[in-house]
Amino acid sequence: MIAAQLLAYYFTELKDDQVKKIDKYLYAMRLSDETLIDILTRFKKEMKNGLSRDYNPTASVKMLPTFVRSIPDGSEKGDFIALDLGGSSFRILRVQVNHEKNQNVNMESEAYETPENIVHGSGSQLFDHVAECLGDFMEKRKIKDKKLPVGFTFSFPCRQSKIDEAVLITWTKRFKASGVEGADVVKLLNKSIKKRGDYDANIVAVVNDTVGTMMTCGYDDQQCEVGLIIGTGTNACYMEELRHIDLVEGDEGRMCINTEWGAFGDDGSLEDIRTEFDRELDRGSLNPGKQLNKEGIQNAREILTRLGVEPSDDDCVSVQHVCTIVSFRSANLVAATLGAILNRLRDNKGTPRLRTTVGVDGSLYKTHPQYSRRFHKTLRRLVPDCDVRFLLSESGSGKGAAMVTAVAYRLAEQHRQIEETLARFRLTKQTLLEVKKRMRVEMDLGLSKQTHDKATVKMLPSFVRSIPDGTEHGDFLALDLGGTNFRVLLVKIRSGKKRTVEMHNKIYSIPTEIMQGTGEELFDHIVSCISDFLDYMGIKGPRMPLGFTFSFPCKQTSLDCGILITWTKGFKASDCVGHDVATLLRDAIKRREEFDLDVVAMVNDTVGTMMTCAYEEPSCEVGLIVGTGSNACYMEEMRNVEVLEGNQGQMCINMEWGAFGDNGCMDDIRTEYDRVVDEFSLNAGKQRYEKMISGMYLGEIVRNILIDFTKKGFLFRGQISEPLKTRGIFETKFLSQIESDRLALLQVRAILQQLGLNSTCDDSILVKTVCGVVSKRAAQLCGAGMAAVVEKIRENRGLDHLNVTVGVDGTLYKLHPHFSRIMHQTVKELSPKCSVSFLLSEDGSGKGAALITAVGVRLRGEITSS
Ligand code: ADP
Ligand code: MG
Repeated sequence: MIAAQLLAYYFTELKDDQVKKIDKYLYAMRLSDETLIDILTRFKKEMKNGLSRDYNPTASVKMLPTFVRSIPDGSEKGDFIALDLGGSSFRILRVQVNHEKNQNVNMESEAYETPENIVHGSGSQLFDHVAECLGDFMEKRKIKDKKLPVGFTFSFPCRQSKIDEAVLITWTKRFKASGVEGADVVKLLNKSIKKRGDYDANIVAVVNDTVGTMMTCGYDDQQCEVGLIIGTGTNACYMEELRHIDLVEGDEGRMCINTEWGAFGDDGSLEDIRTEFDRELDRGSLNPGKQLNKEGIQNAREILTRLGVEPSDDDCVSVQHVCTIVSFRSANLVAATLGAILNRLRDNKGTPRLRTTVGVDGSLYKTHPQYSRRFHKTLRRLVPDCDVRFLLSESGSGKGAAMVTAVAYRLAEQHRQIEETLARFRLTKQTLLEVKKRMRVEMDLGLSKQTHDKATVKMLPSFVRSIPDGTEHGDFLALDLGGTNFRVLLVKIRSGKKRTVEMHNKIYSIPTEIMQGTGEELFDHIVSCISDFLDYMGIKGPRMPLGFTFSFPCKQTSLDCGILITWTKGFKASDCVGHDVATLLRDAIKRREEFDLDVVAMVNDTVGTMMTCAYEEPSCEVGLIVGTGSNACYMEEMRNVEVLEGNQGQMCINMEWGAFGDNGCMDDIRTEYDRVVDEFSLNAGKQRYEKMISGMYLGEIVRNILIDFTKKGFLFRGQISEPLKTRGIFETKFLSQIESDRLALLQVRAILQQLGLNSTCDDSILVKTVCGVVSKRAAQLCGAGMAAVVEKIRENRGLDHLNVTVGVDGTLYKLHPHFSRIMHQTVKELSPKCSVSFLLSEDGSGKGAALITAVGVRLRGEITSS
C-alpha cells in the first residue's frame, strides 16, 4: 500500500525524474540504526507500560495475557479440532497428535468461504456460519458424536481471563461483524452450536495466531519462546515472567503475552520518527544500481504492464527501488520491535547472551525474496547479544491451536493428578487434632507400667529431676554423638554473681564404615578422638567428669547408665544394642590405657537442649530436636512415671517420639512415598514419625515424589536421570534453599542444575511446590506432637492455662525458611489453652551435657556426704 501511494506520487509528480530524486523523497523512509535503536527502546517502554496495572488502561501496546503457560514439551497427544478465523481464509482442521516413538502430527484441513455479508453482518450470523462449517466438517469425517476438544484460533485482540474465554476488544483487518466487540467469542460460538443441536463441542482454548505459531514451532524446538506474524498484519507474542504481568495473579512461571504490537504508535508516539531524516546515512548504499537485479526489474515491468501502465526502463528501476525501500523499512521496524522483545527476554533471564528461537509465519516474511535476509541482518546489528534461530511455522495457526488445546488438556489432567497426590500430604486441622490425640494415647502407653514394654513411644526416664538452679560449677568434658558430627567439648561453668559458660570444641568425623562396623571399633574411634582433643587442649592428666550426649533411645536405670534400645538415623554398629553405653565407653578408655575419665551422665540431646535453655529461661520444661532426626523431652510428674519407684517431684522424660507410628497407628496418614523411604532406610519399619519430619528423610521423600511425577511425565520431560535415581542426593538443605522466598525461579533451576537435574521453568515450579508440601507436613506433624506434650503438662498441673517454653535445637528447625513458623502456628492452633514460647538452644548437646554432669557430680557429693 505504502509503495503504491509512493508510486502514484512518482508517476504524477516526478514522471521522468531520476532515481536519485526518488531517493531524496524516500529519504525519510530509511531508518538509521540509531533511529531503530531509539524505536527499540521506545517499544521496550511501551511493553513495560502495557504490562503494568497502572499504565495498561492507557497503553497503546496492550500486552494481552493469553493464559498459555508453557510451550509444548512433546508429550502432547490426542485428537483435536482447530478453528482458524482471522487470517486470509477461514479454516477448520483436525489435528491428531501422537507422541509414541517419533513425534507425529496428522492433519487434515478444509478452507471455508466467509462471504463479505457475513464478515460485515451481525455477530450471530458470523458465529452461526462458523458453527455450520464446523458441523459440515465433522459430518464429512463422521465425528459428530465424538465431542473432540476444540482449539479456536481467533486472531484479533482479545482480553482473556482464562484460556477458554476471550472478549473481543476490537475488530481488525477486514472483519466488522456487529455485536461482537466486548463479548466473549467462546460464548457466542457455543450459543450458535447449541442452537443447532446436531453436535457438541468442547472449546478448550482460544489462541491468537501468533501464539499458535509459537506453539507450533515450540513443538519442534523447545527453545521457541517467541511467535511472530508478518503477513496481512503483523504481531508478535513471547513468554513473559508471570511476576511482571500485573494483570494476572501469581508470580511464578511464565505466560505467553500477545503484544498486539500493530498498535504501536497509535498514540502518536512515533510521529517524529516518521518524518526524521537520517543525515548519517551513507549515500553510497543508496546507489540503486547496486541493489537492483535484472529479474527484479523484469518483474517490475511485467507487474506495471499488467496494471495498465506503460513503463520506461527508468520507471522500472524506480518502481523496484521504491518497493525495496518500503519493504526494507518494514523489515527494519519489525527488527526493532522484535529486538525489544529479545532484549526483554534476555533481561528476564539475567543472562549476558540470549539463545532463543522465534517461530515465524506470514506470507510477507515467507515469500518476499529479500525480506527475511534484511530482517535478520538488521536484527543482528540491533541486538548483537542475541543468537536467534528462526523457525518457519507450517500452518501455525491451526496446528498451534491444537497444541495449545493439547497442552491445556494435558495440564488440566496433570494438574488434577498432581493435586490428587499432593493432597495426601496436605493435612487438615481435623487430621492434625487426630495426630495430637494419638500421640497422647501413645505417651500414656509408654508411661504406664503394664504397657511400657510393648509401647512404641518409650517415654524413657532420663534421671534428670530438675532444671539447673545456677549453682552448677566446674570444668567438664562433653561428648556429642548421634547426628551428623561427633564432637568433643570442654565446658567451663562458673557460678556466682556472674554466671558464665565457656566452651571449646572440636568436630571429628565418623566414617560410615565405623558407624556401621563393630561396637568396639566405634568406641575405640571415639576414645582416640577424645585423646586427640585432650592433647589439643593440653588437659590430658586429671580425671575429669564427663557427660555423654548420646542421642539414641536408651533405657536408663540411673544417670550414668544407659542401655541402647536400638540404633536410629545412620548408625548400625554391632554388639551395642542391649548394652550399657557408658560401660562400652569406659571399657574403650581402659583398652587405650592412656588416660582416665569419670563418666558421670548419659544425656539425650533433647534433655541437653532443654537444660541449656532452662539455664537461661526457667520456664523451659520441654526440649525438642529437629535435625537429622526428631525427638522431644519434657518434665513429667514422677507419679505418672510408673516404671520408676516414687511419686515425688518430677523427672525429665525422653519421649523417643520418633518411633510414634511404629505400631501402625499412623498408617492412614503415611503415603506410599513414606513407605518407600522407610523401606530403603537402615531401620525399616522403625521411627516412622521421625521419617516424616526430620532432615535425614525429607529430601528423600521429595526425591521419591519427583521420581513418581517424572515417571508419569509431569516432570523433566519424563526422563528419569541418573542423579534423580541416586539415593540421598536430594539433601534437606536443598529444600531450605529451594523454598526460600528470596529465590527467583531461575535460582531454583540453578540448584536443580547443580544436582544434575535439568529443569524447565515449569519443572522448577513443581519441584518447589513438592518441597513446600513435604516440609509443611513435617512442621505440622511436629507441631501436633508438641501440642500433645504441652497439653499433657497443662493437664498434669490442673491448669486452665499454661505458659511454657520449649528449647529447640536442630539444623532443619534453625535453617529452613518456613518450618519453625508453621510448627509454632500449628501448636498454637491445636493447643489453645497453652501459650508456648520457643527458645533456640545454643549448643544444647555440649552445654546441656555439662550442666547435667555438674548436677550429677553435686548429687553424688550429697549422697556420699549424707
Ligand atoms: P544432628 O541432628 O545430626 O545433631 P543438626 O541439628 O545439625 O545435627 O542436623 C543436621 C541435619 O540437618 C542434616 O542431616 C540435614 O538433614 C539437615 N540440614 C542441614 N542443612 C540444612 C538446611 N540448610 N536446611 C534444612 N535442613 C538442613
Ligand atoms: Mg544434634
